[in-house]
Amino acid sequence: MQIAVITIPFIYFLFFVRRSGFEYINLNTNILIIGLILQISFFMTRTSLCGLTIEEISDLAGHGRINIAHSISISNSVYKKKINDISQFPRIPKMLKEQLTEIAFAGIFDPVASEKSSDGTVKYLFRNEDGLEYETVYLPEKKRITVCVSTQSGCRMGCPFCLTGRYGFHGNLEARDMVNQVISLPGAERITHVVFMGMGEPIDNLDNVLKACRIITSEWGLAVSPRNVTVSTVGITDGVKRFLDESNCNLTLSLHSPFAEERKKIIPAENRNPSRAIIEIMKNSPVLKKRRMSIAYVMISGVNDSESHLEELKSILTGTRIRINLLPYHPVPGDVNISSPAEKMQYYKHELIMSGISASVRKSRGVDISAACGLLASGLK
Ligand code: SF4
Repeated sequence: MQIAVITIPFIYFLFFVRRSGFEYINLNTNILIIGLILQISFFMTRTSLCGLTIEEISDLAGHGRINIAHSISISNSVYKKKINDISQFPRIPKMLKEQLTEIAFAGIFDPVASEKSSDGTVKYLFRNEDGLEYETVYLPEKKRITVCVSTQSGCRMGCPFCLTGRYGFHGNLEARDMVNQVISLPGAERITHVVFMGMGEPIDNLDNVLKACRIITSEWGLAVSPRNVTVSTVGITDGVKRFLDESNCNLTLSLHSPFAEERKKIIPAENRNPSRAIIEIMKNSPVLKKRRMSIAYVMISGVNDSESHLEELKSILTGTRIRINLLPYHPVPGDVNISSPAEKMQYYKHELIMSGISASVRKSRGVDISAACGLLASGLK
């Protein structure tokens, strides 16, 4: 029906053009154009199964008309078995497969390019059907495999130390684009952890991020434990509250300075969303959910690694269950800043732990392929 709505007026238009004397548009050209329109319409009007919740799958053929057992088979085929051809879906009747093919497609699509680091990290470039480009990082370690997902093409937060911020904002990604970044990767079945720390500010695209988190953590979805899923934010106060209310996943706040005036220069979002208020919200989040709360602190030599920074961090975090992860700084082109030395980072860690604060020093991964923190979008224009 929708195909007809798009195609029939176009056919009338082509005949009108011919009758008006534009004979250079010959019949063959007409047929080619109609074929193309039919093909485009066919894909445009069908729904991607990847990105749907179990309720949405059940409602695909009309309110609740696909029963729960078949809906689970369909979601398992997409999210767990990664089958991209509906006719190959197991455990659903042939008639339902045919009906489904008319209204939906699996929606799993491959990255368009990849680059491998000497440390095993792989960076993938995706281009979705709207033409938005974004990067995903696959981080294999001995006991875990993490995938770092983008939530936007670019970012509008404008943090000066970040290449994604410099790339500018190109658009929000749908939940299906985020889930696809996990299930379409080679070795996807071995992924144990998902972090929303790629391109974009997740809380600035919260509806889609919450939906992606639900699909990734649900039994009918990818079934990754919420304790292994982390969303990272520079802090947007209302969104953080909503995220903590509506999700069981972990949250990490990119702090980078405990002093508001200094942080405003590194993270402009501080102007409207004071980090102190966000840390209060994190402190007061119900313990019941057992999620992990953490602070990311990129250490820049001579900028945010002084004794006064250390003392302020202690005073903010002592007595909370918020962990702090200390990260090396990766300079972007034209930047005069460098990372704090490893000894300084270890000293910070020691001092924080001695004050009863859980702290760790994180290693850089994928620096040689610009896959590390702040370096994504380096090759995009
Ligand atoms: Fe956006 Fe995060 Fe980069 Fe800031 S650091 S510009 S929030 S992607």
